Amino acid sequence: MDHLSSSQINLFLLCGLKYRYQYVEKRPKPFRSSSLVFGSALHSTISWVHKHEMEGKKVSTDLALRIFDADWYSQKTDTEIRFKDNERELGLIILGKQMLQMFLEEPREPVKGTEVPFTVPLVNPRTKENLGITLEGFFDVIGSDDVITDYKTSGATMSQDDVDNHLQLTAYGYAYEQLFHKPPKGFRIVNFVKNKKPKMATFDTKRTSAHYEAFFFLVKEVLKAIKVGTFHPRPGYWCRDCEYGDVCPLTRETRAKPEKAKEVEAHGR
Ligand code: SF4
Repeated sequence: MDHLSSSQINLFLLCGLKYRYQYVEKRPKPFRSSSLVFGSALHSTISWVHKHEMEGKKVSTDLALRIFDADWYSQKTDTEIRFKDNERELGLIILGKQMLQMFLEEPREPVKGTEVPFTVPLVNPRTKENLGITLEGFFDVIGSDDVITDYKTSGATMSQDDVDNHLQLTAYGYAYEQLFHKPPKGFRIVNFVKNKKPKMATFDTKRTSAHYEAFFFLVKEVLKAIKVGTFHPRPGYWCRDCEYGDVCPLTRETRAKPEKAKEVEAHGR
C-alpha cells in the first residue's frame, strides 16, 4: 500500500468489512445507490459550473440542468441504480434540479480551482514522523479567497459539530498546508438537504495544528489495522445503501431483495 485517500479512511471508519470488500478484495459493485448517484450528479454539475465560470463563460440555468440530466443518465448506462422504498427516480431528478437552481441563484465567490488533485506525504506536523505513504485526494473547490469549500448532500441538515469534526475537511487542510506552506483562510461546507422542500445550508469552520496531529494519529491507527488485516464490520443505517449487503454475513439473510431477485428465487430460475 502506497497511499490512502480521505474517502478510504472514511470508509474504513464507517465499516472495516466494506473497506475490505471494496479496496482489498476489489469486489465489483452490483449496483449503485440512489444517494451516490444523486450526490455525484449534483457534484459534477457544480464542478462544471465552476470550471465554466473560471473560463469567464456565463452559465445558463437551462444548460446546467441539462448537464445534471446527462450525468445522471450516464451513471445509469453501466450499472443498476438501487432506490429506497419511498423513492422514485423522477422525484430525485426534480429534487436535484431544484437544488441546482438554488445554488445558481445564490451569489458565488470566484474560484481558483475545482476538483484539484493532491498527493502529499503523511507526516506528523509536530514530530515529523513519516508513515511512508501518501495522502491523496481532490480539493472540491479552492476559492480565490483561499477558502476550501466542499459540497455535501444529506437527508438531514448537518450540525455545526458535524462540520467542525468533518474528517474530509481536515484532510484538505492538512494537504493544503503541506502544498502551500500556509493555512487556508477557512473551510466551508455547503450542505444540500434532501427534504421535500430542499434546503441549502452553509457552514464555516476552522482547523488548527491540533486537528492535524489528531488526524495523523487516526490515519496511523487505520493504517496499522489495514496492515494486519483487521476489518471489523460495523452495521448501521448505512447498510441499507451498502453494495455488498447481499454478501455481507450480517445482512445477507435479512436484506430485502429487489423484486427481480425475489421472482428468480421463487421460480427457481
Ligand atoms: S452491509 Fe453493513 S456491515 Fe455489511 S459490509 Fe456493508 S456496511 Fe458493513
